[in-house]
Formats: sequence, C-alpha cells, structure tokens
Amino acid sequence: MASAFKRLEGKVAIITGGASGIGEASVRLFIENGAMVVIADLQDEKGTQLAQDMGTEVCAFRRCDVTLESDMEALVAFTVSKWGKLDIMYNNAGILGNAVAEDVHNLDMADFDGVIAVNVRGMALGVKYASKAMIDAGTKGVIICTASVSSILGGMGPVAYTVSKHAVLGLVRAASSDLGKYGIRVNCLSPWGVVTPLLVNHLRQAFENPALTQDEARASRDSHSNLQGHSLSALDIARSALYLASDDSPFVSGLNLIVDGGFTATNHSFD
Ligand code: NAD
Repeated sequence: MASAFKRLEGKVAIITGGASGIGEASVRLFIENGAMVVIADLQDEKGTQLAQDMGTEVCAFRRCDVTLESDMEALVAFTVSKWGKLDIMYNNAGILGNAVAEDVHNLDMADFDGVIAVNVRGMALGVKYASKAMIDAGTKGVIICTASVSSILGGMGPVAYTVSKHAVLGLVRAASSDLGKYGIRVNCLSPWGVVTPLLVNHLRQAFENPALTQDEARASRDSHSNLQGHSLSALDIARSALYLASDDSPFVSGLNLIVDGGFTATNHSFD
C-alpha cells in the first residue's frame, strides 16, 4: 500500500543486512517513502534481485562484509558518490551465532568472537564511517542500530548475542553523546522475536526440528507474546525504523526503542 505522505522524500540511506528479514522490509518501506537506498549485505543474489525489483533509480546493491573496515569505508564512499550524500545509516546486519543457547561456562569462544565481530564491530564501523561522511558534508543525519530485547535482558538468546546487543546499546549511547553537537541523531531499535530467516534457523536448532515451518515459528512466537492478537512482523519493525529515520522524531537521540508489545515491561516470574 503506497504511503500518502512520503516521510523520507529525497533522503539517501544505507541499510546493512538489507537483503533479508527486517532489513528487506525496511528497504521496501524507506523507498516507498521517497528514499534512495543502498542495500549492503553478503547475499549478492538476494540483494541484487531486491535492488532490481525496487528500481535501479532508487535502489542499489553493494556487497559489504560489515566486519571489514575497508568494505564499510567503500560502502559509504560508493553511496556518497552515487547519490551525493548520506542522510540515514541503518546498521541492521546481525547474526545470532550458536543457535542453541549454551551456559556461560561452556562458551565457544570462536563463536563468541564471530558474533561480536558482526554485531558490535560491524555496527561500530557503520557508525564511524557514516558519521564521518555526515560531519564532512554538514549533514544533520540519522543513525539507527538494530539491537534486540537482548540489549536489556539476559537469557533471551545465546550469551554472545546478549553481550553483543548490550554493547550495541552502549555504542548508541556513546555515539549519541558525541554526535549531538553535529546535529546527528543516533538511536537503537530493539525488536522482540520476528519471523525472519535468523529466527526460524534459531528455532529449528533450539527445537531440534529442521523441518519447522515459518508458520510454526510464528505460532511459537505468538504463544509467548505479551500482546495477544497481533503477530509481530518485519514490517512492524521497519515502521519503527521509519519513525526514527524521519523528521517525525527530530529530538529523539540516544533512545533504545523497544518494540516488544510490552514484554520487557512485564514481570514474567509468575507466568
Ligand atoms: P536475517 O537473517 O533475515 O537478516 C540479516 C541479514 O544480515 C542477512 O541478509 C545477512 O546476510 C546479513 N549479514 C549477516 N552478516 C553480515 C555481514 N558480516 N555483513 C553484511 N551483512 C551481513 O535476520 P533479521 O532477523 O532480519 O535480523 C536483522 C537484525 O535484527 C539483526 O541485527 C538481529 O540481531 C536483529 N533482531 C532480530 C530479531 C528477530 O527475532 N528476527 C529480534 C531482535 C533483533
């Protein structure tokens, strides 16, 4: 459904992890709202196809491993050279790591390092190079980082994931504090469980059921949801990203916008 009012008219955005899940829904919604978007991802085929579907005049795919400083620097340079500026950096690429939660005394350190590399180093690189470009151009831009309810709660996912998402919140607070003087807003977006490939793969391993379908994954999330009667979707999260990216939130910075239907506000110990 086309938006009557285009909230991002003429804005240029990068969305990391834009080839799938929450990132893909955000690519679609941002473009529907008038933005030009560069999809940055490791999935060449999906990213290229999505950019073609959206239209090459408003969308481009750029392969980028967010853990590599040279890739991130080149991604921002590519965007600025293609569309003249960078208004919105949406650091969204993330991984869950070992899907089956393990106790901290059995941590697999190679897995730990891999999760931290993507979820923390990747987001720090995104903040670094996007803010550099915005400061150089005098752009009062917006940076969004996807965290999770695991940014404020333990035990919602694997240890490395929890550590990484708490760190994303720290990064956002530090960056919001540093970049405010340039008029750059930085916010965190923390979803509860959304049915995407990341979540479905996690549940397949956690339930030891490789054949688990998307519908079964959705039913499982819905049964644990605090807010009955609505199934959280990637588009719901994209809508919150749109709020943070647009002039609808001109004085919002350093926020952790938790989109969880009240889950973390509720005392579950009596469930
Ligand atoms: P997804 O797996 O559908 O999408 C993630 C995308 O990131 C993929 O396209 C993947 O190729 C890309 N990616 C992974 N590593 C990368 C790298 N090194 N460089 C570039 N791209 C890379 O997952 P999603 O659920 O849409 O996750 C998006 C974000 O939302 C993640 O940060 C995730 O932690 C967060 N999140 C998801 C949920 C959920 O339930 N799905 C809940 C809370 C937070």
